[in-house]
Amino acid sequence: MTSASVRVPARQQSIRASNLALAYRLVLDAPTPVSRAALAAATGMTRATAGALADALLAAGLVAEVAPPPASSAGRPATGLVPASTGWAGLGLEVNVDHLAACVVDLTGAVRHQVSIEGDQRGRGPGPVLADLAELANRAAADLAATGLHVAGAAVAVPGLVRSTSGRVLRAPNLDWQDVDVVADLTPRLPVTPLAPAVGNEADYAALAELAADRGLRDFLYVSGEIGVGAGVVFDRRLFTGSRGWAGEIGHVTVEPGGDACRCGARGCLETVAGLDALRAPTPDAAVRAGAGLGRAIAAAVNLYDLDTVVLGGAYAGRPDLEESVRAALTEHVVSAGWAPVAVRRSGLGGTAAAVGAATSVVHGIHADPAAWEARA
Ligand SMILES: [Zn+2]
Repeated sequence: MTSASVRVPARQQSIRASNLALAYRLVLDAPTPVSRAALAAATGMTRATAGALADALLAAGLVAEVAPPPASSAGRPATGLVPASTGWAGLGLEVNVDHLAACVVDLTGAVRHQVSIEGDQRGRGPGPVLADLAELANRAAADLAATGLHVAGAAVAVPGLVRSTSGRVLRAPNLDWQDVDVVADLTPRLPVTPLAPAVGNEADYAALAELAADRGLRDFLYVSGEIGVGAGVVFDRRLFTGSRGWAGEIGHVTVEPGGDACRCGARGCLETVAGLDALRAPTPDAAVRAGAGLGRAIAAAVNLYDLDTVVLGGAYAGRPDLEESVRAALTEHVVSAGWAPVAVRRSGLGGTAAAVGAATSVVHGIHADPAAWEARA
């Protein structure tokens, strides 16, 4: 019998749930294994209460117990709790214009499976693309069976505008997708999981992966360079998604008024000079034009939001040649640059950051509400 099925008043249950979340958070954030006594001291709970919460987290498979280090003094050394590396895991999937990807992240945040396939997805239509994506997902789930991990839920990264309440892709201009119900199409093809799949913007998920990888980051702009160009905006280590979830469409900021036609219908958007198609154009100034346009669009974001760091991700991560012109544009266009230059760095996560971020978002959901997972152990 699980504690969730014990008849206790609702208020008492919610206090227990928030105490359980607090205890779990301490174990997740601690650099070393946490003993039950340390858990009690850090939370102000009694030893008995903290011990009961530790037992509940263990029973739910959310933490594991590790042996104490060799005793350096007399007395019985305590075992410590660490996040479990078996049990539940998050599945991240990515549809992009020139690749599909899948990855699995466990409760410790480690990537346990990663695969991507190159291939132009334009003109294929959502059905065949999502069928291929589901095949990657099922392959990932089958691979996990031997490792003691099970998929808790999936999140799908797409290069477009997503309605956050329903997961519908309203528009992905470079895939030519309009109003695609990814959840309805994908759910019957995915491994059965306790959580329904979520859908989000690829640059937002990639920014989440960047956050998880670097605890020193606080306020930054993550710019994802693919065929399209997207951004994730992070304030105080939280993703800013805007009032309807559509913030970060930096690819459609005008950088060359009256310039080339964009897939969105406007002219001179950043994507038309700094998307991969433009970057790969065999003209001698393609990289210079891309870097300058990118820098101008980023400068506008920095002037608006006072972000101190820019992370260049996606294909930009492998293009050191863009950095100099981005920096030059930031020096010219950011009004505060003379006092505090904006740090520009390239992401170390490679091309699958969005899939990693999507998987991480599933894991974060488990981290935030451990009580919901007790009955599912
Ligand atoms: Zn556009």
